[in-house]
Amino acid sequence: MNEVYLPIAFTLVGALIARTERIAASYHEVLAAAANIFSENYKLWWSTNLPAITCRPTSICACVCYMALLARSPRWIKSVKKLLRVYNYFMLVTPEEAADRIYRDYTRLPARGKRPRPPFIRVCGTGDLFPQLVLAINVLVRKHPEIPVWVATRKPAMVALLDRDAPNLFIVFSLDSSQESWERMAQVFSLGHLRLRFSYLRTSPKDRIPACVSVVYNQQTNHRLPTDDHPGLCPADAGRLPMAGACAKCRRCWSLQPEEREDLCHRRSQYAKRS
Ligand code: SF4
Repeated sequence: MNEVYLPIAFTLVGALIARTERIAASYHEVLAAAANIFSENYKLWWSTNLPAITCRPTSICACVCYMALLARSPRWIKSVKKLLRVYNYFMLVTPEEAADRIYRDYTRLPARGKRPRPPFIRVCGTGDLFPQLVLAINVLVRKHPEIPVWVATRKPAMVALLDRDAPNLFIVFSLDSSQESWERMAQVFSLGHLRLRFSYLRTSPKDRIPACVSVVYNQQTNHRLPTDDHPGLCPADAGRLPMAGACAKCRRCWSLQPEEREDLCHRRSQYAKRS
């Protein structure tokens, strides 16, 4: 890694987390029953988003996080309060209730139109997992095996808690070139989780992408990055697919690629031999 990265406390994300924590300390409202738990997202159309206080950023993602850039908007306070209401809701209710709420609100998203309901449920469009949310996801994937549930995280401890077998659960563990990221990758490997996949946030043309990576996201504000050198490169980031609603068409992050099916079978047989 050639670039010099700041300690997290001095980054945009460090400031965002500190600012969100100050608001959260006195904001205890819970998502109203009539409100929808999903938030709009340009690439996904809709996702369940969480506030930055749930994040455990690496030094790289802390410097390039798009959520931190949105914090400059005058509408930020309004949107962060929605995320806090969602967070407070998950902290308050049982996993069964939370799973039913996610499903109910997913079915209430528009079936067609300008921003239609995607064919998957995306959790952590912003923010990261915490135990109450993980338990709700585990209920959700079992109750609704017909819907792919796509979760992104940077927390090995939360991966350990996620359902190991549900075929509709797609766990994408996010990597980058930071030292912490390599350490976390080693931690999640040691879990031997059967549903785990890796993504990589590329911020420099010189990044070495680990062989285990299924999908590569190019830092969107960096136009020096290659756009055709990796089979898992996100086509929206590479400019090959319009960004708006790209994930519903692409499928890479919420379905298994053929080579991953083989890897999954291999991992299952290894696991069966050990246990
Ligand atoms: S690789 Fe495909 S599914 Fe994944 S983020 Fe990019 S467009 Fe969406």
